[in-house]
Amino acid sequence: IKTIGVLTSGGDAPGMNAAVRAVVRKALVNGKQVKGILKGYTGLLDEEIIDMSANDVSNTIERGGTMLFTSRCKEFMTEEGQKRGAEICRKHGIDGIVVIGGDGSFRGAQKLAALGINTIGVPGTIDLDISCTEYTIGFDTAVNTAMEAIDKVRDTSTSHERCSIIEVMGRNAGYIALWCGIANGAEDILLPENYDYDEQKIINNIIANRKRGKKHHIIVNAEGVGHSTSMARRIEAATGIETRATILGHMQRGGSPTCKDRVYASMMGAMAADLLCEGKTNRVVGYQHGRFQDFDIDEALAMVKGIDPYQYQVAKDLSKHC
Ligand code: ATP
Repeated sequence: IKTIGVLTSGGDAPGMNAAVRAVVRKALVNGKQVKGILKGYTGLLDEEIIDMSANDVSNTIERGGTMLFTSRCKEFMTEEGQKRGAEICRKHGIDGIVVIGGDGSFRGAQKLAALGINTIGVPGTIDLDISCTEYTIGFDTAVNTAMEAIDKVRDTSTSHERCSIIEVMGRNAGYIALWCGIANGAEDILLPENYDYDEQKIINNIIANRKRGKKHHIIVNAEGVGHSTSMARRIEAATGIETRATILGHMQRGGSPTCKDRVYASMMGAMAADLLCEGKTNRVVGYQHGRFQDFDIDEALAMVKGIDPYQYQVAKDLSKHC
């Protein structure tokens, strides 16, 4: 390997810059050249490729978003697009590539690997929904941002003795909702993994809590369940208690990364560069059982993980007043 390329793809996540910086600096330390590919696979196909020096990643570790920009690229889903991508890598002398993104981005990386470009994936998504790893870049920052926002909604919700439904991101996964549910002491948590929630039970819970003198009722709802606004209308009609929905939205993807996101992203980016330098390909970096490890991409994509049922039970038990 002489030249390593790096790109960010899919949804952006705070900490991606730390990972890019680590790829660049570690590859340079290992005596390789580095090229940044802008706007994910779209930028690869458009040949938006820049040389990267150690200076180019100065003052980026503390910044949210991704300095390389990101995209979702339909053309790269096609065999023709993938072949063209591999040819462009060869044309620019890129013989190894680090792809920072989610499962979809790893599928793209897998295709590039099959076409002879050495590839390593680094898990970058706020959703924590990558099965081979207990940590994904951006989750820690996003969940802290959501937690702080929910604290603020709770203040005003208590003052007005309201019920609040707060919808957090996470796509089809409920990790952000579950973590916030525990961290914010929510009265109810709705997860897509438990889609058959019973709205009548929530209504009964709200009424019982109000009788007990509770001034607010916080429901953390996951994006994958959704429908927060219509749910609020139904709950208000059934309980007579003013109920508001707040959808936190994209603010959860922004902001300066937490220490954990900076450090873990740095470790993962550095490891990806090292793996390429060792001649490895079709691998993805993950964090499992307290250490950073690498997995075959095919195996990683076939893994399944879910919400820890004990964690969910604890969340429910801690909101009870027996
Ligand atoms: P996030 O978790 O933030 O959504 P992601 O990486 O899963 O991140 P996707 O939109 O699924 O986001 O994928 C990003 C890009 O990866 C796609 O726009 C596409 O260019 C490429 N990609 C996804 N799936 C495939 C596939 N099966 N084959 C080739 N490329 C793919």
